[in-house]
Amino acid sequence: MRIHELAKILNVSSKELIKELTSFGIKAASHVSSIDNDTTTKIINLHKKLVPEKKTPLPLKEEEEPLIKEEPLIKEIKEEIKEIEKISKKLHILKIPESLTIGELSGHLQKPVNEVIKILIQNGKVCTINNYYDQDILDTLALHYDLEFKIITEEEILLKEEVEDEGQLVPRPPIITIMGHVDHGKTLLLDAIRASSVASKEAGGITQHIGAYKVKLDKGEVVFLDTPGHEAFTAMRARGASVTDIVVLVVAADDGVMPQTVEAINHAKAANVSIVVAINKIDLPNANLNKVKQQLAEYDLVPEEWGGKTIFVEVSAKKQLGLKNILEMLLLEAEILELKANPNQKAKGTVIEAHLNKSKGPVATFLVQKGSLKIGDFFVVGQYYGRVRGMFSDAGAWIKKALPSTPVEVLGLSGLPLAGDYFFVTENEREARQMSLKRQEALKKKKEVSSKKITLENLFDQIKQGKIKELNIVLKADVQGSVEAIRDSLTKLETEKVKIKIIHQGTGGINESDVLLAQTSHAIIIGFNVRPNANAAKIASHQDINIRTYRIIYEVISDIKKALEGLLEPEYKENTLGIAEARDLFKTPKIGVIVGCYVREGKVTRSASLRVVREGIVVYEGKIASLRRFKDDASEVAAGFECGLKIENFDDVKIGDILEVYVLERIPAKL
Ligand code: GDP
Repeated sequence: MRIHELAKILNVSSKELIKELTSFGIKAASHVSSIDNDTTTKIINLHKKLVPEKKTPLPLKEEEEPLIKEEPLIKEIKEEIKEIEKISKKLHILKIPESLTIGELSGHLQKPVNEVIKILIQNGKVCTINNYYDQDILDTLALHYDLEFKIITEEEILLKEEVEDEGQLVPRPPIITIMGHVDHGKTLLLDAIRASSVASKEAGGITQHIGAYKVKLDKGEVVFLDTPGHEAFTAMRARGASVTDIVVLVVAADDGVMPQTVEAINHAKAANVSIVVAINKIDLPNANLNKVKQQLAEYDLVPEEWGGKTIFVEVSAKKQLGLKNILEMLLLEAEILELKANPNQKAKGTVIEAHLNKSKGPVATFLVQKGSLKIGDFFVVGQYYGRVRGMFSDAGAWIKKALPSTPVEVLGLSGLPLAGDYFFVTENEREARQMSLKRQEALKKKKEVSSKKITLENLFDQIKQGKIKELNIVLKADVQGSVEAIRDSLTKLETEKVKIKIIHQGTGGINESDVLLAQTSHAIIIGFNVRPNANAAKIASHQDINIRTYRIIYEVISDIKKALEGLLEPEYKENTLGIAEARDLFKTPKIGVIVGCYVREGKVTRSASLRVVREGIVVYEGKIASLRRFKDDASEVAAGFECGLKIENFDDVKIGDILEVYVLERIPAKL
């Protein structure tokens, strides 16, 4: 049952109900979130008990137990609440910004900076008041002060932390992203809706594509993001931006649920965004609405006519059928979501698009999410700043003021921001300039504090430290049977400490979308008899996303099991490159001892490691510091040649020593 429905039954506001659920430890994101039957019954029973029945209760059937039975249940719930309260009190959570010096961090901790530095030094972390914190430092301090740090981004502080002045809030239009399988009609639907939009016609201007557009209806407005599909949606989310309120899931009536439909559902769910289903192409003779509905029901998207809660609309983008209905339904869903913003504050929002215009300079589409953006406003955007010199609506009209949920093209930026960057209006130019500088610095530091990525190797540590309570997995396999088999076995591995959650499963190769989903959900990717495509592999390695590929189911299970138990070590394989012999030694005052070598076998490369072996005994293991051939630096010297070589931090070489040169190769996956 959805929250707002239950709230209605209980005669309380959705907000109150969400609060109450939270106190039971049940997460409810919004008014349209669903709760399971057990919980619903518990809550209803609890209310029955607390609020004496006014209406005559429904007649009970003879065999049904009367209210008496609820006594122990209430007791149980109350004990649960106490338990939850105890736990939350014990763990003190300190929210801190992404980038702080040790000095600033001490301030947040309300501890003298000397004390903090002392603790760090005692734990082997030498630092000064001006150093920035890193994860190690946080871990040490968290342990010492018995608290937990939660890093919040500047954007989170700006957009979410502020206390809303309830009285100033007014309804704002919903922001919609269209998602679904390729060729199911996302683009055509977007265009059809745009074409039917009053806003663009009314302004008389030339409709321009600025990344989003607004549709005006009698009862309100709806804003559509122009980039359909989940890449854009996930890419934005990966950057921390959340602009979408509702996802329209387009499913072609002749094709039904396809892999990307499932992906879209999972993306929307991971982002906690509500879904409105648009069954498209109903004009086709082979349209099968029932089949689509049945298929979607398997993913918890059940239409109201079947007792479910999801809004379904039937449309034809091609024949322009049902367009008005879909807009109305989106307004309805928005109403349920109670989307509100305060127009009387300084504007904040997200960059939807940005490009360099030859004559105008950097141009960006801002989606104003809070407040009103006005001509002349100074702002910070990403790492840049600017002043609104000109604003254009999606209809190409020059506007002076943009209210919440309005996309506008803005001129007057100092640089080119990225889609997903936040902007916010500042008091004056100086503040904008200073903040942009600070952000540029923070960006440099960001790498140092970027949250640790989850890999199977570090999983156990993170579980021990209480950082992970849920192992998120994206599971891809060659056939559905394997998916099911692996899924079943994996979920059996759940322990009390860690839940295993398959956030997305499917057949086929590992693609970009899988990687992005894994990134935003801090998941690892498991591939069974499938490999990542080139682009996915590139993004994954760039973003440090753990992809493990397997060909034996047992090994998947065994690896995850080991990881949960903390037994999985990263595996390295030594690859011998070559063998050299020390034939001469040159002592230099500055560099130390240069070993004159003869490469007997294979080759010696500059970046390799080496082992100094004397009469069969390894006397030193380390790295090559420099490699020269005659007077020149060499990256590699082949067998049969001589070279000069300096061993990092080691000068005690003897003539006749054997140098075994090798590289360590990390074994990426067990095959
Ligand atoms: P996208 O990949 O999801 O953006 O899909 P497109 O919007 O590009 O549409 C894919 C194909 O389906 C195009 O050839 C469209 O003309 C066609 N199409 C889209 N909507 C409809 C519809 O309602 N009915 C019919 N018959 N064809 C449609």
